[in-house]
Amino acid sequence: MQTGVDLHPGFPARFAEVCCAVNFHFLKSFVVCNVTEVEPADMMWCSSGTWLRTLLSCAVLLCCVPAFGRDRWVVQEQRGSLLMYSEFEVDTERMWAELGEVDSELLEATGIRATAGRVEIVLFASRQSYLQYLSASVPQAAARRAIFLKNGEISQIYAYNSRSLVVDLRHELTHVRVHQHLPYAPLWLDEGLAEYFEEEEAARPRSSRREAVRWKARVGISPTLSSLERIRSAESMGAEEYRNSWAWVCFLINDSAVSRQVLQNYVRQIHRGEAPGRFSEYAAAENSDVLSRANSYFRKMTFPLTFASSEE
Ligand SMILES: [Zn+2]
Repeated sequence: MQTGVDLHPGFPARFAEVCCAVNFHFLKSFVVCNVTEVEPADMMWCSSGTWLRTLLSCAVLLCCVPAFGRDRWVVQEQRGSLLMYSEFEVDTERMWAELGEVDSELLEATGIRATAGRVEIVLFASRQSYLQYLSASVPQAAARRAIFLKNGEISQIYAYNSRSLVVDLRHELTHVRVHQHLPYAPLWLDEGLAEYFEEEEAARPRSSRREAVRWKARVGISPTLSSLERIRSAESMGAEEYRNSWAWVCFLINDSAVSRQVLQNYVRQIHRGEAPGRFSEYAAAENSDVLSRANSYFRKMTFPLTFASSEE
């Protein structure tokens, strides 16, 4: 999966950040409504016409989880701060379990913690329905399977029913958590984490990206962190850049307790509002040996259950 988000630290907070699945493009959306006042019960009273007119009157406006009618949502469930609206029957228990797994793994691996901010997950029965709903306000949706928007404490994920729905939701929720926890995030880290956690733990060793990274590393072509750090927008990222970002996150989480700790320390500094600079420079200063292990890791691309098993 290829995704995109542009994280310009200086971008006004009143602009929402948008990330989407299966696209390299990004979008900054102007949000003028205060969604915090809208409760689910009230959302269901929003008429489609009203909502869409509002959307069209703004650059992009996602002021509530809307409804074209009371019967639109077959599923309306809440689990903590997560709310799910779906046009089709969903195995919600599995979805909550998958999303809960993302939260717990993210916390354990990186220290990124879910906040109490509301996350509205809106699922459409078909791509057509998804496009009808979003195309007027978010034209970029046409090239995407899922979209993440954020405005203050409110995050929204839009997706549609497909074989990759679980992967899409895991990917977008990772972005939600990254953006809840951090005032900004390097693009390679944001996308690398989303790519990493979109797959269930058991599926990672079988990832199609793994063999590509291993094969290239074995012929002397390893992902270069400094080149990823120079990328300024998701528009500049192609499949290789997304795969390489994923590979670097794999390395930092799985190579050793030391590499994971360096990543966690970096995340903690950003969370505190500090400016640790580029990760490559930060990591070299923290532990001069940690980055030197990367090429060795890329030749193996292992996903150990314990750190001990990855130690050489
Ligand atoms: Zn993404």
